[in-house]
This record gives sequence, C-alpha cells and structure tokens, in this order.
Amino acid sequence: MSTPVQVTGGPTGLIVAELFGVDQPTFQGEGPSCGCPALFLRLSRCNLTCSWCDTKETWDWLHFDPRVVSKRVSVAELAAWAFSSPVDLVVITGGEPLIQQKKLIPLVEEVLAAGKRIEFETNGTYVPDPALLVDSVRFNVSPKLANSGVVEEHRIVPAALEAFAASGQAAFKFVTRTVAELDEIGTLVDRYGLDPVYVMPEGTTPEALIDTTRALADAVAARRWHLTQRLHVLAFPNPRGR
Ligand code: SF4
Repeated sequence: MSTPVQVTGGPTGLIVAELFGVDQPTFQGEGPSCGCPALFLRLSRCNLTCSWCDTKETWDWLHFDPRVVSKRVSVAELAAWAFSSPVDLVVITGGEPLIQQKKLIPLVEEVLAAGKRIEFETNGTYVPDPALLVDSVRFNVSPKLANSGVVEEHRIVPAALEAFAASGQAAFKFVTRTVAELDEIGTLVDRYGLDPVYVMPEGTTPEALIDTTRALADAVAARRWHLTQRLHVLAFPNPRGR
C-alpha cells in the first residue's frame, strides 16, 4: 500500500503522486536493479501520452483531477520520508520526473549525503541537469517506440539521448511487444550509441508478461541485449503502489 500524500510543501515543493516502499517494503521491479529493495517517489506530470501508460493519473487530466491525485511536498518532507527506511535505493519515477529536475537537485544532494543511491526512471526526452550527473545516481532511460502512439518528434529527443549516452550513468530500457520492434530499437541504439540495452515486455498481467517474454527471449539473446521483467506485476496480486 502506498503512503497517502497529505502534506503540502508550498509553491517550492515537488508535485508528488505517491510515495511507497516504507510501510510496505518492495523491490525495484525493472531494469539493472530488478529485485533490489527500493523506495519509490512517484512525481506527477508527463510530457508524453503513451497509449499503454499505467500511471495516467500523473498526467491525464481528462480522467483525473490533478488537485486530487497529486500534492506539493517539500524537499525536507521527502528527505525525511526517505530517511525513515533503511533501504538504500530511492527510485524517482513518474510521470516524467525530469520535468521537475531543478527542484529535485537539493533532494538528490540530501539523499546522497545520507549514503543512499538514486535511480531515475525517465522517458529520455529531457537533457539531464549536470547537477544530477553525480556518483550514486543512475538513469533508467526508456525511449518510447511507435507502439506508444506518440509521434516520433515528441518521444525521441536527440540531444537528450545523446546526453544520457555520453553520461556513462544510463541504461536504456525499451517497452516491447513484438520481435519486429527490436529492429526499431536497433535503429535508435545505432543512431544514438545507446548502451546497455534492456528489453522489457509490455504487459499488466503475469500471463501477458510471460507470453511476451517467451516471444522475445531468443531474439533479444541473439542481439546480446539484456532482457528484463516487470517484477512487481509477477510478484504482487495488486501491483499498484508496490
Ligand atoms: Fe506514461 Fe511514461 Fe509514457 Fe509518460 S512517458 S505517458 S509516464 S509511460
């Protein structure tokens, strides 16, 4: 269960959708740290509109009221939340968290000073602020494919992908439905020098994930890429807030 976000941080606070992992411990479910104990800070707002997005409450104001589904929370309150758990990995996700990256800098500094580490889950359309490119911060960059339904000029931002590729602090994770989409990934990998590559099956049920994993596995292995999972969907009957 996620921690209700009821405090307000004033105009300088971050716009937060949910916090989870303290009261009910959980894992990083995707990418290089899949299976590691983790805390989650989910920020509100996104600049894309992926058709299969499973966190539409962070951006879809036709169906969600932002005044109800998000709150402003101060950096001090967020730091206190992170320090209330012994878990060292703090995942900052969204929505698209780098929309608020300037306001995240002091939080990142406090969390790192306490000996924790941070992973950002980003769609790779914002050039990361240099203040975030520091030790113990990693970026799981998830460029969106055509299967997202978003036009290419919105979902692929060359300057941002080039900055992440040059940082040495990013892994590139692709939500994938079919073997045919691996060619689309390969084009982006070659064009922007993306490495390492993680292919993650799209799906919101264990059955769908297993089917897609089996359909993709041989072709991903043949390209010497990584295959990752959505562990929270496999592990928890109700994966929201886990
Ligand atoms: Fe949802 Fe992520 Fe796409 Fe934004 S980038 S719409 S949060 S899947």
